[in-house]
Amino acid sequence: MLNYFRDIGLGIVTVLKSMGVAWRHLFTPSVTLQYPTQKWTMPERSRSKLFNKIEDCIGCGQCARVCPTNCITIQTEKRGKEEPEIFASDGTAIKLRTYVYDIDMTLCCYCALCTFGCPTHCLFMTGEYEYAVYDKVCHIYPFATEKQMISKTPKQQPAEKA
Ligand code: SF4
Ligand code: SF4
Repeated sequence: MLNYFRDIGLGIVTVLKSMGVAWRHLFTPSVTLQYPTQKWTMPERSRSKLFNKIEDCIGCGQCARVCPTNCITIQTEKRGKEEPEIFASDGTAIKLRTYVYDIDMTLCCYCALCTFGCPTHCLFMTGEYEYAVYDKVCHIYPFATEKQMISKTPKQQPAEKA
């Protein structure tokens, strides 16, 4: 009998305690972010989607060489002597035409090594973290805007002997 009333008392105390917690939280400011209408501002040095400001890219290939996962593909050609000189915004002369500059973000491990060595600081990580897609091909980002000018002719095959 004693246990019976002790359990009832315990139940009442438990309910009162839980109601107390609920009431306390009713009047404290919410910490829940209403995503996606509200979003966190990413920290300044956060690592997320890469971006290449291609007009400042000199096509040196440093980024592709240091990339441990080979996710950067670059193809360049020398700009012709007759073409007007162009410069990156830091004054570096752009002597190569970068006609392919693709980053495959599905392979990227977000190490940021490619950004550290970039001489013109045109390659950097943005704060963008929402870039989910249905087809992973869409994660290959082409940045090059120029076209290949010097067409590479296939090597001449030696003529067959009669
Ligand atoms: S962050 Fe790392 S893995 Fe990604 S492209 Fe740059 S070097 Fe490659
Ligand atoms: S290191 Fe910078 S300048 Fe050189 S190819 Fe890469 S993005 Fe362009």
